[in-house]
Amino acid sequence: MTDVAVAGGGLVGLAVAWRAARRGLSVTVVDDAPGAGASAAAAGMLAPVTEAGYREEPLLRLGLDSLARWPAFAAELEAAAGTPVGLRTAGTLVVGFDEDDVRELDALHAFQRELGLAAHRLTPREARRREPALATRVRGGLLVEGDHSVDGRAVHAALLAAAEAAGVVLVRDRVAEVVTDGGRAGGLRLASRVLPADRVVLALGARSGQLPGVPPLPVRPVKGQVLRLAGAAGLLEGTVRALVRGRQVYLVPYGGDRLVVGATSEDRGFDARVTAGGVHDLLHDAIDVVPEVGELELTETLARWRPGTPDNAPLLGPSSLPGLVLATGHHRNGVLLTPVTAEATAELLATGELPEVAAPFTADRFERSPVWS
Ligand SMILES: Cc1cc2nc3c(=O)[nH]c(=O)nc-3n(C[C@H](O)[C@H](O)[C@H](O)COP(=O)(O)OP(=O)(O)OC[C@H]3O[C@@H](n4cnc5c(N)ncnc54)[C@H](O)[C@@H]3O)c2cc1C
Repeated sequence: MTDVAVAGGGLVGLAVAWRAARRGLSVTVVDDAPGAGASAAAAGMLAPVTEAGYREEPLLRLGLDSLARWPAFAAELEAAAGTPVGLRTAGTLVVGFDEDDVRELDALHAFQRELGLAAHRLTPREARRREPALATRVRGGLLVEGDHSVDGRAVHAALLAAAEAAGVVLVRDRVAEVVTDGGRAGGLRLASRVLPADRVVLALGARSGQLPGVPPLPVRPVKGQVLRLAGAAGLLEGTVRALVRGRQVYLVPYGGDRLVVGATSEDRGFDARVTAGGVHDLLHDAIDVVPEVGELELTETLARWRPGTPDNAPLLGPSSLPGLVLATGHHRNGVLLTPVTAEATAELLATGELPEVAAPFTADRFERSPVWS
């Protein structure tokens, strides 16, 4: 019998497992393909300010809290794993391609200022001084010095090593069901056996709403196509996000000479196809903003599913099934929210108390507020 069985070994499940093991709990993670979910696709942006959406203020506060935890989390993780996670603190530049895009940028800036967030409007010349690779057609920019990035795959690899070093057991198997015993979660049924556990953490990403034995959860797959390119050493100082004729694209440098270009956002269920149109739009817009992208080597195309929820915020803490703890629904911010999710969930598992920062994100908010249903 393990204290905690974690269903899912993506960034979220592994980080929860690592933190819970560091609190003295025995932890088993079950995943038949750890790291192959949304965590493989993530661009690694830690960007609560440039991701801030209208009516998403609670999510913004959670994101800012998690961003503040990232430097210590990254340092501790690197020390435990012995490998780097690629935290970059060069900030994020958002640019507008044409006059309409710049108007959109001004609206975004006004919204950010209303919320008291730090963002500086730049002229086209100032934007190019910061990022000389920008096309001369770029019409203006917004610098958010506090929005950073990590190498999401490096974080996942480090979490695997750190969790193992902390005593977490990783079982490479498929989870078929949450087993209930006397009205509470009592473990996981795997393809080959039952894993009894005192508590179960649900961290199956976009598949969290589909597992038998789990109460109904509003988690849906939001498809994202993303590209990886090589040969980008020195091309960009930090993340560049752009509005290009009303469409969004981002370019995130990582790992010395690599670049992630993303991402589409599509409601197409679990469709795993990388489409010609998806790749075309991303490359077309990225090359419009940074023409040199056209000279890079396209090394990978990938489609994965963000775990979407009705208010774009995660599902954290206890569920309506006693013993079942939720750590899912992180949608487009799962990398950013990994530290706060791991630390709040480990606190709940170790003490029975969900920290205040996570309290607004329990699943019962959808019952309380019909707006989201
Ligand atoms: C294109 C794209 C770009 C993104 N960019 C960013 C970004 O820049 N910044 C950011 O913060 N977030 C980003 N995200 C979001 C982020 O990737 C997710 O929120 C995060 O990875 C979710 O992590 P997770 O561990 O919950 O889910 P996942 O990584 O999907 O992990 C779930 C795990 O569960 C396992 N699993 C599922 N079903 C079963 C089963 N029945 N049995 C056993 N195992 C199972 C899977 O194998 C998988 O390993 C992006 C997402 C996409 C798709």
